[in-house]
Amino acid sequence: VDSSPNTITRVPMEKLLGGLLAPGFDEGTCISRYQSYLYRKASPRKPSPYLISKLRNYEDLHKRCGPHSKSYNKKMTRLIKNSKINLTTRCSYIVWKGSNGLGNRMISLSSVFLYAVLTDRVLLVEFWHDMSGLFCEPFPNSSWEFPENILTTSYLNHIQTYESLVQNNMANTSKWVLPSILYLNLQHSREHDKLFHCDRSQDLLRKIPALILRSDQYFVPSLFMTPYFQQELSKMFPEKGTIFHHMGRYLFHPSNKAWRLISSFYDANLAKADEKIGLQIRVFNTRKSPYQTIMASILECTLNNKLLPELDTRISVPFPTKNRTFKSVFVASLHSEYAENLTNMYWRKPTITGEIIQVYQASHEGKQKPGDSIQNMKAWSEIYLLSLCDLLVTSYKSTFGYVAQGLGGLKPWILYRSWGEKIPKPCQQALSMEPCFHYPPKSDCSAKNKVDITSVFPYMKACEDFSPGVKLV
Ligand code: GDP
Repeated sequence: VDSSPNTITRVPMEKLLGGLLAPGFDEGTCISRYQSYLYRKASPRKPSPYLISKLRNYEDLHKRCGPHSKSYNKKMTRLIKNSKINLTTRCSYIVWKGSNGLGNRMISLSSVFLYAVLTDRVLLVEFWHDMSGLFCEPFPNSSWEFPENILTTSYLNHIQTYESLVQNNMANTSKWVLPSILYLNLQHSREHDKLFHCDRSQDLLRKIPALILRSDQYFVPSLFMTPYFQQELSKMFPEKGTIFHHMGRYLFHPSNKAWRLISSFYDANLAKADEKIGLQIRVFNTRKSPYQTIMASILECTLNNKLLPELDTRISVPFPTKNRTFKSVFVASLHSEYAENLTNMYWRKPTITGEIIQVYQASHEGKQKPGDSIQNMKAWSEIYLLSLCDLLVTSYKSTFGYVAQGLGGLKPWILYRSWGEKIPKPCQQALSMEPCFHYPPKSDCSAKNKVDITSVFPYMKACEDFSPGVKLV
């Protein structure tokens, strides 16, 4: 054991992910928080000192104003009961309400957290039963959970919406008063040009003590479009393409139950490999994208880019016995055929490089099961296992893949959609590890002119996998 002072100080910094995590949590309540560094390579992307100080300040705010604090017990509970009361409070809140699958929820939750940090609001999360027990509490000496049976549809129908706020503001009606609690629905299925990215809207929102924000999108790029936040964001993230990487690693720690699944699968199947390749195969429409086409696109991508070796097709070649290198392929998919096919392929013939390829899959659930907590636990474990790989191949437009690439700090090769085509489009490596914001604002703050965000902001590019979307690079 090297016990030189250097090693002693280096280990805690790695353990705290370069200062991203606060020390002092009870390790037993969340084993993954301080153990994850043993499972992944240290990230070359370091959090900026300014980001670290913002996170520590946020933690203080959360402790002061979060659940169980005096302010929360007195003010937030009253606000929820009566949205019309006029309360002055030093603490303001934002409650995240998710929708869609786990990947969508995680990218939107990280966006809401960043928004909370920028606006000094306390973040609370409404985890439905299907999401409870997946993650550890991220903030020291407090909780982020908001009770699940309060924000029902009838409750939300009764409080003022952000749309009506914007309309009133545009109409400049003198009589309307700002509510104490407001429902902000930024889901992709809604009309998305809601001027949320405009200073004028942020001015109004700032005056409202409690927001309920529902989203399934990674709307961080729209925060960069807001002049109020631009400078602060640039200070927090000198490298713009690393936002989810840092925020995701800060927020999402597998619960002890999830960590047992992850670490035992990893130790048994992946730990010894010389190289680990994650393959995420998401099929949105099995009828339009037949198995053969998807399998062809997987092989085209992995073989042409030398992520996996070709087979040695000579009739009789001995399997090498010395100096063998092992590559593990971890497949995450609802379907079993892809992993089975790869296993059969590498089992029958040696590879031209002599490498031994082993293929693993943790589950194949057959189909997406909304509201199923067991599927979400498996999904979270598999997202995390993908993020522990050295290289990643993901599927176009899949938020499941976005979370894995962001946590892993990886720029994946993206498999494209093939609908009907027999010859697949070649895969392409992503420009950055950031998730794509699928439905960015289309108009400027006057709401009259169309805007092409990528021509205004050089650090935003059209997403490789979905061109109407934008991503930070
Ligand atoms: P997206 O639809 O690909 O953007 O990803 P989401 O995570 O938002 O939604 C898909 C949901 O389907 C996940 O939350 C899982 O419940 C399920 N799912 C999709 N792919 C997989 C997979 O590879 N493994 C497991 N266990 N579940 C999956």
